[in-house]
Amino acid sequence: MPGEIFVVTAPSGTGKTTLLKNLIAADPRLKFSISYTTRPPRPGEVSGRDYFFVSPGEFARLRDSGALAEWVEQFGYGYGTSKEWINQALESGQDLVFDLDTRGARALKESFPQGTLIFIVPPNFQELERRLKGRGDMDPQELARRLEQGRDEIKEISWYDYLIVNADLHLALEQLKAIVTAARCRAQRVWPGMKGLFTSA
Ligand code: ADP
Ligand code: 5GP
Repeated sequence: MPGEIFVVTAPSGTGKTTLLKNLIAADPRLKFSISYTTRPPRPGEVSGRDYFFVSPGEFARLRDSGALAEWVEQFGYGYGTSKEWINQALESGQDLVFDLDTRGARALKESFPQGTLIFIVPPNFQELERRLKGRGDMDPQELARRLEQGRDEIKEISWYDYLIVNADLHLALEQLKAIVTAARCRAQRVWPGMKGLFTSA
């Protein structure tokens, strides 16, 4: 059975990284798609686990050689998804989780229409600001830019498959797990591998 694709988008500060870490830790069939970025690592971030942190020159080389399935420039940094990574994971039957902005989500949905798109929002905008500030890892300018982009991204929710409100972390995680389970049970996915078992002798 080919691997499933889950694309998750949320305004910066929503709690997406926290939720995805918990989701993936609880489900060995899920693999996180590690993007390339020119953004410097935050405290605690590790290259090859959170992102592949690369120089602007290396990012341009990857982009120009066609190695990226999609890429965007945002907050002054490049972010992009490796084509090879996707193909390898899908061929080995693993389910892949992507953490992408709305442009990346749209691009991936075009290449993989069977993919499941999940948007996560905080309970309200004030709480988004509080969480983003609470992270304490960016200057006021970047904070303002991320809040602004969050407002813009929310306008795109209507073409996503699912919306999770991350008010209570535990509940949001349960909802995320339920979506993964539902996607794996789609008849179109399961039945082709099973129907031979039901043909009459
Ligand atoms: P993102 O990856 O969406 O930018 P993070 O996972 O880094 O967000 O979370 C931003 C902050 O919000 C962190 O301090 C995190 O602990 C906190 N947070 C995440 N989910 C919740 C929640 N449901 N309630 C309260 N705080 C939360
Ligand atoms: P951050 O700097 O907070 O890790 O990520 C900023 C934004 O970039 C988030 O909205 C995240 O979803 C998005 N992002 C991370 N990697 C990629 C990628 O490979 N492609 C795209 N399009 N967006 C990405």
